[in-house]
Amino acid sequence: MSDAARLGSVSVVIPIFNEAQNLPALLQRTEAACRQLGLRYEIILVDDGSRDGSTALLCAAAQAPGSRFVAVLLNRNYGQHPAIMAGFSQARGEVVITLDADLQSPPEEIPRMVSIAREGYDIVGAIRANRRDGWARRLASYALNRLIRRVTGKSTADYGCALRAYRRPIVTALLQSRERGIVPILANRLTERITDIEISHAPRKHGLSRFRTLYALNRLYDLAATLMTAPLRLLSIIGGLIAMAGFCMGLGMLLLRGLLGQVWAGDGVFTLFAFLFTFVGAQLIALALLGEYLSRIYQTLRAQPGAVIQQVIGASSAARDEFMP
Ligand code: UDP
Ligand code: MG
Repeated sequence: MSDAARLGSVSVVIPIFNEAQNLPALLQRTEAACRQLGLRYEIILVDDGSRDGSTALLCAAAQAPGSRFVAVLLNRNYGQHPAIMAGFSQARGEVVITLDADLQSPPEEIPRMVSIAREGYDIVGAIRANRRDGWARRLASYALNRLIRRVTGKSTADYGCALRAYRRPIVTALLQSRERGIVPILANRLTERITDIEISHAPRKHGLSRFRTLYALNRLYDLAATLMTAPLRLLSIIGGLIAMAGFCMGLGMLLLRGLLGQVWAGDGVFTLFAFLFTFVGAQLIALALLGEYLSRIYQTLRAQPGAVIQQVIGASSAARDEFMP
């Protein structure tokens, strides 16, 4: 698609996993918001291996005559971020919006995000004002957002909010990069032109958030892998501190033994501890270094796509042809 044809076109990418109850309102509200744009648009619904009838619903939406919906069916469940990346691979718009299917972030904000992005921002993020999640979830978000801001040095205030706008160069760069992980973090690394807007946040109407124990734990691992070297560096700092403490303890004991005599050292038990700490610390540093090498090899090697698309429905429909003149 040429740049001129792309100018002024919008793609909305929505990852969907077992959201059948939310889909009717989602499709209707998203389409209504897009119609307000006065620009060409497409709405890409990525089915992330749903098992609750969502698939049939979004296929029907994509197959309707003149439909602006495109259904991208993944062959199994991959998770939110791989699903978004699969949607990106099919998106053709100049501005690409990501949105959650659970309607916690209002689709009505799409026109505002698009117009801010078109003012010249590469990424527009959203901050959830009056956050409608439990306190534990909010606390975890607060801590993680701070951590990510520190590690990446980028100022997005709310990495957990899926409603975001990306300009085409960012989407292309993400697709070309072999790195996989949490999309907002990967994307923010690619540009300085980022801004945030405040949006209102609604509680989830239907279905459960996947943010439950195991899933949350998996996300933490995801986060660690996306931030990649930061956890390893933390490990080596901890290792360094333990080794230093062990060394100081050894020195202190040598000194006290000289001053207070042989009995003081507890027949070598404490000396043993001092040695132990020193070596445990040194081992942690070595482990972190090894991890650092491994992560670099891993970075270069992972050429695999984040998700396998099984089928794209609506790709050759009139709406899509019109979208790509
Ligand atoms: N989602 C997905 N695959 C998954 C889990 C979630 O595509 O394996 C989608 C889900 O349908 C929703 C979005 O990702 O559109 C966010 O999921 P959820 O609301 O469960 O997460 P939370 O908003 O609680 O972080
Ligand atoms: Mg949600």
